[in-house]
Amino acid sequence: MSAKKNLSAKNIETTLVSAGRDKKFTLGSVNAVIQRASSLVFNTVAEKKHATQNRANGELFYGRRGTLTHFSFQEAMVELEGGAGCALYPCGAAAVSNAILSFVSCGDHILVAGSAYEPTQDFAEKVLRKLGVNTTYFPASIGENLGSLMQPNTKVVFLEAPGSITMEMPDIPAMVRAVRAVSPDVVIMIDNTWAAGILFKALEFDIDISIQAGTKYIIGHSDAMIGTAVSNARCWEQLREHSYLMGQMVDADTAYVASRGLRTLGIRLRQHEESSIRVAQWLETRPEVAVVNHPALPGSKGHAFWKRDFTGSCGLFSFVLKQRLTSAQMADYLDHFEHFSMAYSWGGFESLVLANQPEEIQAIRPAETVDFSGTLVRLHIGLEHCEDLIADLELAFGRITAKP
Ligand SMILES: *Cc1c(COP(=O)(O)O)cnc(C)c1O
Repeated sequence: MSAKKNLSAKNIETTLVSAGRDKKFTLGSVNAVIQRASSLVFNTVAEKKHATQNRANGELFYGRRGTLTHFSFQEAMVELEGGAGCALYPCGAAAVSNAILSFVSCGDHILVAGSAYEPTQDFAEKVLRKLGVNTTYFPASIGENLGSLMQPNTKVVFLEAPGSITMEMPDIPAMVRAVRAVSPDVVIMIDNTWAAGILFKALEFDIDISIQAGTKYIIGHSDAMIGTAVSNARCWEQLREHSYLMGQMVDADTAYVASRGLRTLGIRLRQHEESSIRVAQWLETRPEVAVVNHPALPGSKGHAFWKRDFTGSCGLFSFVLKQRLTSAQMADYLDHFEHFSMAYSWGGFESLVLANQPEEIQAIRPAETVDFSGTLVRLHIGLEHCEDLIADLELAFGRITAKP
């Protein structure tokens, strides 16, 4: 061991606090300034020329290229996720669609995880197909056989881990190796939202682009939306320029709250994880529950891959009931929670609940086999005390089992 600590090898909590807080962005305050601008003023012809030449490299040029507030957040994201740059989008869905659009042309083919977030699959079906780009979906279990689905015109491979709603964890390194063995140049992207970009260091696994709905854990308070795509050097210029040409931008205020979210992300995630594991373990002991899908639990599909490749988990998981709820039971179950709200999205400080019948999930992902017959419940465990959440869930079981 070297006697001198390597100061650049910071722990993630420390990086979350310090990243992007260079003096050139904070101008003497603790946080980056909020610089709202469309026009940015040049005092001389020489200044304008310099700004134009360096407009993609952090010089103030025009609002659509960003201001100090955006540059600070982008620099922070690159420090956290690695890579050469971070493109910003008004929401996660825009990050997904623009990242894919940046790398496909008419006649191309892409591979998309069959358990990917539903709007990602809809984008492939309704927009990409119209542009002459065809999609093949693959199951999470495909692993090293993913290479067999590659076609000569396959340009993008889109991963997501764990699978949306059913939470199975794929063998990401095996998939990446298989794809690279067929085509080293294919652009591999991952929707890395569940890992908040930090629990799975995608770029270190030879993935080119790590996408997040920053709407979830980065913003963390359910009151703003943003999308991020961190890219390695190989893909950065094309991602940046194509996204820019498609008009992708966020306002400075949103970039600011995203930066601020980073400062507490470490401690929030740790609490979301601790509470969600407690709740998930309690659910495993319940007679009403068939299976709990939480990557950090040994019984969950792909747990060994999670353990090998991820440094932690978060507040989002699901479980399957032994029974299939009737519509009346579903309403009884969902309508009377005290601490769980019914809402889309997740990642805020509050707990959420949603339920799906198996055939609804099968309809979202025909490429995946749904292997259960009970109703699936998806929870986001917020920052409330987990004993209160467990009490709420226990009362809910009473509502669906006590009925004659
Ligand atoms: C929410 C979400 C998105 C989309 O993000 P928005 O900000 O709502 O557009 C994409 N992927 C995953 C996994 C998500 O959970």
